[in-house]
Amino acid sequence: MTRLLNVKIPPQMIKTPIFDAEVQQFLCGRLWQFDDLPFLQDILRYHITQKFIAIMPGIQQGHKPFCRRCHNTKKQQFHHFTCERCKGSCLYCLQCLQLGRISCCTMLAKWCLAPPVSRHHPKMSWQGQLTAQQQQVSIDVLSSMMKGRNHLVHAVTGAGKTEILFPVIAQALIENWRICIATPRTDVVIELVPRIQQAFTTIEVQALYAGQKKSKKYAQIVIATTHQLYRFEEAFDLIIVDEVDAFPYSKDHYLQHAVNKSCSRVGRLLLLTATPTIQQIASFKKKAAYSFLSRRFHGVALPVPKIQPLWNYERKIRQNIIPKKLIIWIEKCLAIKAPFLLFFSSIDLMLAAEKRLSQQIPQIASVYADDPKRHEKVRKLRQKKYSGLLTTTILERGITIANLQVAVVGAEHAVFTTATLIQISGRVGRSKQFSIGEVVFFHHGITTKMTSCQRIIKKTNKMGYTV
Ligand SMILES: [Zn+2]
Ligand SMILES: [Zn+2]
Repeated sequence: MTRLLNVKIPPQMIKTPIFDAEVQQFLCGRLWQFDDLPFLQDILRYHITQKFIAIMPGIQQGHKPFCRRCHNTKKQQFHHFTCERCKGSCLYCLQCLQLGRISCCTMLAKWCLAPPVSRHHPKMSWQGQLTAQQQQVSIDVLSSMMKGRNHLVHAVTGAGKTEILFPVIAQALIENWRICIATPRTDVVIELVPRIQQAFTTIEVQALYAGQKKSKKYAQIVIATTHQLYRFEEAFDLIIVDEVDAFPYSKDHYLQHAVNKSCSRVGRLLLLTATPTIQQIASFKKKAAYSFLSRRFHGVALPVPKIQPLWNYERKIRQNIIPKKLIIWIEKCLAIKAPFLLFFSSIDLMLAAEKRLSQQIPQIASVYADDPKRHEKVRKLRQKKYSGLLTTTILERGITIANLQVAVVGAEHAVFTTATLIQISGRVGRSKQFSIGEVVFFHHGITTKMTSCQRIIKKTNKMGYTV
């Protein structure tokens, strides 16, 4: 029976509200621009008069403006503009602009009744086997979840952290929780959706990222980029934040706030990362809510990167010369028919290298964040239609290709932090069939970031493989 939230009414007094189930399914847990609601005005008006939908101004103006959607209060993050709708000077929020403009005369809508009741029986179709270590981590996570406690899983690259989630999600569905898997990267959303849907075939799984088709259905599992969470409020009982250290989430406290506000009052967060900060580890360890998955799922150690000088590589590439050592490394990959990734610090250096390399090496291409063919090019590398890809740090994570070999050209550059170098190294040896491979940091001067990456990987290998 549907009833008003947080109001205790004797059962004989309860009248079942009559509402449109489609409106409930779409709006439940969301904070949506009223003008963009995909329903007829008459239907919406009825729900508002019945107080099933609350509407509120997008920006509250007091002595300080406040964006109701992203909770921005910084004056410099609001701008005035001449507004067509309210025929005057209106204020809009810059912080969440990429999800559509919120201004003083924008109204936001929120569902006030209970969420839909799932009629589907949760059934897990995934039948894989967890390793002993994965199983232990999964038990630890479940224990935190049931206690309503946030938890951090530190899992080395290629440890199989998605598999750990299966029993956790299965239990959450039994509890009738609404679950969100949030990640800073669209690529990760796209890769995760089919895997989660295949594991829980009877449950509605919805992907949310910029540019994807909107569905009106209520989904018990939402897989979204962290930006999309600006549009939710107290919606989820469990939010799993994958790649919690990835840009922009790690540096953007508004995005972190968006995750927190999307979590229900009794909800919990599960944070996943291969490269947590020392502070994160310490703070979760203190609450006994930290798990470390130190072994890869296939049991073979992580590849330790080799550090090799490539003096004056930048000058040479800009003069249209590819350093000999780099050519030899690429030819070695071609000889063993292994796909490769070459990481560069900037787009222009990468394009200069591509111009020269494409005359010597068959089937190569380059990718960067705004490349519209990014996903297609990665797919072609996977299908062996390309022998290698030149890339910026955009492919540092979220990509798994069998037998991949990796080199960084100019590893001394500031964009290659220790965490980035660990993630890049983690692209290699991820499959059972090809569990080893080569990672090379070519440089014009060794940095402590390169050596600490090597040290951390060696230390992790020791911890994971000497037990
Ligand atoms: Zn905002
Ligand atoms: Zn206006």
